[in-house]
Amino acid sequence: MAKLLEGKPLAEKIKEEIKSEISSLKKKPVLASIQVGDNAGAEAYVKSQKKTAETLGIEYQFHKLSQDTTEVSLIEFIQKLNSDKSVNGVIIQMPLPGQIDYKKISQFILPEKDVEGMHPANIGKIVFGKAKILPCTPAAVMELLNSTGVNLYGKEVVVVGHSEIVGKPLSLLLLDKFATVTICHIGTSGAGKLEEHVRKAEVLIVAVGKAGLIKGEWIKEDAIVIDVGINRVGDKIVGDVEFETAEKRASYITPVPGGVGPLTVTMLMRNVVEAAKLQQQ
Ligand code: NAD
Repeated sequence: MAKLLEGKPLAEKIKEEIKSEISSLKKKPVLASIQVGDNAGAEAYVKSQKKTAETLGIEYQFHKLSQDTTEVSLIEFIQKLNSDKSVNGVIIQMPLPGQIDYKKISQFILPEKDVEGMHPANIGKIVFGKAKILPCTPAAVMELLNSTGVNLYGKEVVVVGHSEIVGKPLSLLLLDKFATVTICHIGTSGAGKLEEHVRKAEVLIVAVGKAGLIKGEWIKEDAIVIDVGINRVGDKIVGDVEFETAEKRASYITPVPGGVGPLTVTMLMRNVVEAAKLQQQ
């Protein structure tokens, strides 16, 4: 039976490290958060980010813009925060209203204030193994893997999902640890080859958003399984991996909810501190 890889205890440990880093900074770090219009999902994120920031000693500056904000005025607002020396990090809450293209807008955040680690300059640094600010979910996955003590050198690692926010940057971080990385996606499933790849995985990471996509019986004996997926099935939240059968075969497995999720917001806060340090230099 697999050991559960829970995010919360690890998040608590990392929060202690963040607190001690903050105590060595000249001033309290400031995270500016922008929400455009009303949205229950965005409000839930804001609440959780605000609470985490405040318990760590990070000032959470919340800016709510109207639903009809144009791209031009949002860019102007971001530029104001870019030039405000008291602000260390900027985050734009999702979802955004239809008139705003997140990909376009997010590139206007200065790379040294991009605490989501999604600016092309920050993503690019991952390729060179030089990134200081990492995308939050891939960073959370790397922390979970690290907590198992696994040496990734030469390991068969299969990542299912190749999105810009999870699968692609995560694969680069894994390559940096000398893992042998296979990236699967919709095309792999289309070619009927998903099972074949998953069965080889000594470490399996799934970030798709389809409940039950990965059958428990495909899991290699003693594999480490990180399930990033979040799916609502009836009144329950489940991942992408069939948990009950998978946990009988894996050595470690993340629960959903309670695995990757609780760590993501902690990674955001770590980036805020990293950004503050970069700006102090
Ligand atoms: P996305 O929709 O951007 O990408 C999905 C990926 O899955 C794509 O690479 C696509 O090719 C692949 N895919 C789709 N159907 C497939 C199939 N049948 N077989 C194999 N691959 C398939 O999604 P995303 O933003 O990367 O998010 C993925 C999941 O992770 C979602 O459930 C999301 O809610 C969750 N997520 C969780 C966290 C967290 O903090 N826990 C953070 C981000 C995303």
